[in-house]
Amino acid sequence: MRLVWFRNDLRLADNPALRHAGADEEPVAALFVISPTQWRQHKMAPIRQRFLLAQVDALGLELAALGIELHLLRVETFAEVPAALASLCRELGVTRLYANQAIELDEQRRDHGVTAALAEQEVSCHWLNGCCVLPPGRVLTGSREMFKVFTPFSRAWLKALDEDGFVIHRAPAPRGDSLPWQPLAERGFIDEALGETTPDPRWPVGEAEALRRLHAFLDQGVLDYGETRDFPVMAGTSVLSPYLAAGIISPRQCVAALQQRLGGRPQSKAQPGFVWLNELIWREFYRHLLVLVPSLSMNRPFKPETAALPWSWDPDAFAAWCEGRTGYPIVDAAMRCLNATGWMHNRLRMIVASFLTKDLHIHWRLGEDYFMSRLIDGDLAANNGGWQWAAGTGADAAPYFRVFNPTTQGQRFDPQGDFIRTWVSELADLPATYVHQPHDWLRLKGRQDYPAPMVDHAVARVRAIEMFRDLEKK
Ligand SMILES: Cc1cc2nc3c(=O)[nH]c(=O)nc-3n(C[C@H](O)[C@H](O)[C@H](O)COP(=O)(O)OP(=O)(O)OC[C@H]3O[C@@H](n4cnc5c(N)ncnc54)[C@H](O)[C@@H]3O)c2cc1C
Repeated sequence: MRLVWFRNDLRLADNPALRHAGADEEPVAALFVISPTQWRQHKMAPIRQRFLLAQVDALGLELAALGIELHLLRVETFAEVPAALASLCRELGVTRLYANQAIELDEQRRDHGVTAALAEQEVSCHWLNGCCVLPPGRVLTGSREMFKVFTPFSRAWLKALDEDGFVIHRAPAPRGDSLPWQPLAERGFIDEALGETTPDPRWPVGEAEALRRLHAFLDQGVLDYGETRDFPVMAGTSVLSPYLAAGIISPRQCVAALQQRLGGRPQSKAQPGFVWLNELIWREFYRHLLVLVPSLSMNRPFKPETAALPWSWDPDAFAAWCEGRTGYPIVDAAMRCLNATGWMHNRLRMIVASFLTKDLHIHWRLGEDYFMSRLIDGDLAANNGGWQWAAGTGADAAPYFRVFNPTTQGQRFDPQGDFIRTWVSELADLPATYVHQPHDWLRLKGRQDYPAPMVDHAVARVRAIEMFRDLEKK
């Protein structure tokens, strides 16, 4: 018996582990492990947990239709996984385990434990690359090191892609009669320990849904992406991140569909579609980094010297940021949108991350954790990469002296204030002229319902730059 262990690759199509497991006539079974305490320790957002479990149900049904039974194990932490898996393998008579490689350190340690435990009962483990287009370690500098800067990584990545090529594997054919599938809730796998588990209707699961979103974006949005992607009200991005993070769709499927849409791979920034491809390469950059620089999984900055920055941990200022009460309309709108929907536009992620670290001087780790605890697409590599970029501590980070001005960012990327008015009800009736700097107008009307700016940006900016300059002097 072959066993396929599904993790952040909850799909049938283009799934190397599933494909390799089914390469011969041996029977195949599948597995998903629910580990609520570990998920909580990793700050997994309840909305993401619900999304994953709903997709597990969808996947279980599809596997059952192919004659493959999806087994479920529930353990509290990763530490219990090796023994639980060893016992399941004994019970099912498994001789080979297949899974797509995990990139996070805790997950990798868990997988090493599994390899060792299964070796004792002569079960071989096969770890494949299902989470990146090119496997981590494939794109290195001339001295065989990981790139520290994105642009040369991107160039080398494109060259490697041309050299290696890739094939998209279809979903497997049925391997036997279809089996019944009993949803997780009915089998007692979902209880209070997992919190609120009703899926959010805004985020339907399923591979068909992910493909529908991909093709809708490629049909309409991709050609204008370079111009529209920075404007939150324009819906100019694919909103595929929850599906990519859960592996409901693979990055290779995205690249292949893009190439098909454009009749070939875009070669330079001047060509339509290149900017979107570049974002997928940013995703790869952060994933490769996470594997090759394990300290990133341990809360450490990529630039070790920045560990000495005197970040603030002020709980009141942090709470005001989390709740969207900073007095900076674009920041507040973005945070309230995140809290209500579980998703935030990339431009807004950059603005609020810059505000937390450069205006409030609060440690990026608090922001990183908060995002993780709220995002439906929470992903350690992209989230850590994004936060360290904004804080100026990461690989190819924003230069420390370039500090986003939250007011001009709002004016530039939400010029009519429509995004702000949607999420900050206190400002819903403000004209575009005042919505980014509403305080004089509100004062004139005798209104005190919206908070005053919690910091003076000009002063905070100077302080942020000083923090980094002081570091250089040490
Ligand atoms: C502070 C901060 C935190 C972030 N946290 C996460 C996170 O937890 N999970 C996550 O998936 N993305 C994260 N990002 C990256 C980015 O904001 C989201 O991937 C993007 O907003 C998702 O929207 P989309 O699917 O419409 O992207 P599109 O613009 O359509 O891009 C397509 C895909 O490329 C990938 N991608 C795009 N931009 C980036 C990027 N800068 N870094 C890495 N991958 C990228 C995503 O998988 C995305 O779905 C973060 C960015 C910042 C600045």
